Amino acid sequence: MKTVTKEVYYCEYCGKHLLLKHAMVKHENVCSRNHENMPACVRDGECIHLDVNNPFRCILFGKSMYYPNARKKGLIDKYPESFEEKIEAPINCIHYQN
Ligand SMILES: [Zn+2]
Repeated sequence: MKTVTKEVYYCEYCGKHLLLKHAMVKHENVCSRNHENMPACVRDGECIHLDVNNPFRCILFGKSMYYPNARKKGLIDKYPESFEEKIEAPINCIHYQN
């Protein structure tokens, strides 16, 4: 039997682990639990303006939203039809109410 000891890299935000440091740096940049990627609407508890019948739709904006990390991952360019009529959820929002 062969035994190898390796460095394991853990995500500071979600606990995911990977064996490649550069892959973890890339992951942490887009991790949905990273507060830099977490919209104001859900960061400190759900905003009262979220539509209860449509989990990620803002009643005030009248639009469905997507997380900012979708843009960082390049998903909007890759699957534009999935993002039509949607807006990026704001990281800071003056209307946030909990
Ligand atoms: Zn993570």
